[in-house]
Amino acid sequence: MRECKACGSPLSGDPMVSSWKCEFCKTVNYNQEYIKLYAKNIDFSKTHNLLQVGMASYEGQDYQKALDIFEKILFENSACQDAWVYAALCTAYLADLSNLEKSAKKADSYLAKARELNPDSVLVSVGNSVTRNVLGKALLKAIKRSCEMAEKNYFAYESIDKSHAIKKRSQELEIAYLYATYALDNPPDDPEISGPIAVEILRSVDAGICPIHLKNKSENILNHIKTVNISYYEQLQLQLRSSKSKTGYSSFIGSSVKCLVIGIIVYIVLQTLIILFAIFDGFD
Ligand SMILES: [Zn+2]
Repeated sequence: MRECKACGSPLSGDPMVSSWKCEFCKTVNYNQEYIKLYAKNIDFSKTHNLLQVGMASYEGQDYQKALDIFEKILFENSACQDAWVYAALCTAYLADLSNLEKSAKKADSYLAKARELNPDSVLVSVGNSVTRNVLGKALLKAIKRSCEMAEKNYFAYESIDKSHAIKKRSQELEIAYLYATYALDNPPDDPEISGPIAVEILRSVDAGICPIHLKNKSENILNHIKTVNISYYEQLQLQLRSSKSKTGYSSFIGSSVKCLVIGIIVYIVLQTLIILFAIFDGFD
C-alpha cells in the first residue's frame, strides 16, 4: 500500500503516474518509480543512441558511467532535457562526504538547465523531488557528522583551553551550517529527511553561532510537519529535547549555573563569618 509521505494516509491512483495528491493533507507525492519507468519507456527510435546507453546504465545503478554518458550528450546537444535531469539524479546518487558541496551545486545547476528548457515538464518536477531527497540524505549524514564532531572537539579541549574548545566547535558547526544552507534552501519533500535536518540545526542553535535564517527555516519545516502529521512532529520535538539535554552546550550552561550557586553560598558563609567575628570582637 502506498502512503502519503507527509501524513501517512493511504494513496490511491494509477501506479504509473508521476505524482499523487494526498486527499487528506493535500501534499503532492512524487512517484519515484516514474523516473525508472520513464527511462524504460523512452521512445528510442526518436532519440540518441547514447541516451539509450545512459538510461540503461542509470537503471543498472552505474551512476558514474551514466553521468559520463549524459555529460557527453549535453556537450554535443545542450537542448536534451532528459540528459540534464538524469545527470542531476546521477550527481545526487554519487554525492558523499568527499564531494558533497560540489555535488549539491552541480545537481542544482543541472536541474536549473532542465527547467529552463521546459518549466512545466513533469519529468523535471519528479526529478527535482528525487534529487532533493537523495541529496538531502547525504546532507543529513554530513550535518549529523559535523554536529557530532563539534561536540567531541568541544569536550576534548574544554578542560584544557576553553576558548580553543569554542573555536574548534564553531569551525565544525560552520561546516554543518553550510550543508544545512543547501538542504534548507531547497528542502527535501520527504519529512523523514527534512525533519531530522531541522532538528540537528535547532539543537546546535544553543552554541550561539547559527545564522538566524537557518533557525527560521528549520522552525518553518517543523511547523509545516506539525500541520500535516502531528504525531511525527511530536516525535521530532522529543528528539530535539532529549538530544538537547545530552549536548555539551547545556551541560556547559548547567555547570556555569552550579559554579554561580556555589560562589554565592561561599560568599554568604564568608560574610556571615565576618559579621559573627565582628559581633564577638564587640563583646571583648
Ligand atoms: Zn497526506
